[in-house]
Amino acid sequence: MSTTINPIVMKFGGTSVEDANAFRRVCEIVRAQKAKARERGIVVIVSAMSKVTDALLTSVEAAIAGETHAATESLENQFARYVTVARELAHPDKVATVTEAIDKARDEIAELLATLQRQPSARPLIQDVVVSYGERLSALVLAAALDNHGANAQYIDARRCIITDEEHGRATPFAEETDNHTTRELTPLLTQNITPVLGGFIGSSLSGATTTLGRGGSDYSAALIGAALDASEIQIWTDVTGVMTADPRIVPRARTVPFLSYEEAAELAYFGAKVLHPKTIQPAIVKAIPVRVCNSRVPEEAGTLIRREADTQEHRVIKSIAHKNGITVVRITAAAMLGTYGFMRQLFEVFERHRTPVDVVTTSEVSVSLTLDDTARLPGILEDLRQLGRVEIEDKRAIICVVGAGILTTRGIATQVFRHLENITISLISQGASSVNLTFVVDETRAAEAVSRLHHTFFETYGLDEAADLAARGEGELIR
Ligand code: ASP
Repeated sequence: MSTTINPIVMKFGGTSVEDANAFRRVCEIVRAQKAKARERGIVVIVSAMSKVTDALLTSVEAAIAGETHAATESLENQFARYVTVARELAHPDKVATVTEAIDKARDEIAELLATLQRQPSARPLIQDVVVSYGERLSALVLAAALDNHGANAQYIDARRCIITDEEHGRATPFAEETDNHTTRELTPLLTQNITPVLGGFIGSSLSGATTTLGRGGSDYSAALIGAALDASEIQIWTDVTGVMTADPRIVPRARTVPFLSYEEAAELAYFGAKVLHPKTIQPAIVKAIPVRVCNSRVPEEAGTLIRREADTQEHRVIKSIAHKNGITVVRITAAAMLGTYGFMRQLFEVFERHRTPVDVVTTSEVSVSLTLDDTARLPGILEDLRQLGRVEIEDKRAIICVVGAGILTTRGIATQVFRHLENITISLISQGASSVNLTFVVDETRAAEAVSRLHHTFFETYGLDEAADLAARGEGELIR
């Protein structure tokens, strides 16, 4: 059974809860949203305070190395941050309860680290419990702060909602169990206008062991909870205003993209942590729930709304120009490739053996070019590839990716892109693998220039409305 409340799920990342001021901003944002959402209800998911997960993982390493005492000591600063926020923002009557819970967490973590030193083989299980405190304490403190700011909130242990397999450190949720548990736990609160506050990133296995969903897993938690509750919107609050038209460090005139389709967002995911990982929002995609990326420092800006392509209202064919430096191109030429089969399998088996992901691939009759991001195992890869043919390497390259629905079907896009890149050598081009992306590789030293020129062409020449007018008159081939 799912609720008919269709709540808004609001997820706040670690930088949105880095200190008391940040928590205060979150309280304001939730309160404003709650006033707007009225009977629809709000569910809040929160990450550990910034840097806490790293600190907890470091303490686990130290305990394994036999330094439990130092490991425990190293966490004092982090506990103090939670205590400060609780003292500043919780109702005076609640401060003692919250700080007692923080003290209890400190004792339990010390005990867990001591056990880990004696029993290092228990690491996967114990590590998940230790890191789970980061999110649990954030949620506890935020619930107290929200409650004190008129948001009528209640802490809920996310492990009662997100049910996973036993793969510690990167557990996979069971959709049906998660749906059922989440609905059962949260619907009664929502119907009473109480805002549940849960830690992201954590879950529990069917046998009740604490599990985690992998680094950055709180977005995933938000999507799972949103899908379980048929949310009307999932908001990911972070420290940037949505997805940008280009990297603002190299294009100062870059601006926020108002709408993206799920597919466009997935293509952009490779290029930066600021865009959601496709796996992360999969539960939202399945239920066609819109996902909004917003900036908790500038909450009045609308951010980027990611949703089904059919629902986007953008006129632009090109939505964003992403790039990534530090890319290596590997080119394999083998006459044996001509007219035979099985060559590609052999080629890709090399990368599988060396556990190295391949990103962009292009082929001709007798050669294959591909790009690697991670070159840690390159020497072994090259040795194996040389058994297959002649191998050439180009390092210090950059991938540039022009993303937008309709790239494949709109006349003139490739001409526009490459006309503005004359005198920049292109080592590889890929178009057509996806209908929303045109990818090519240039020398790293020319990447910023290429991105700036393309941004100028596609985003700074016409205003949006002007471009739409041109399209309507059939004059702007670039514009739908
Ligand atoms: N706190 C976890 C991490 O730092 C999960 C998250 O913030 O999404 O990876």
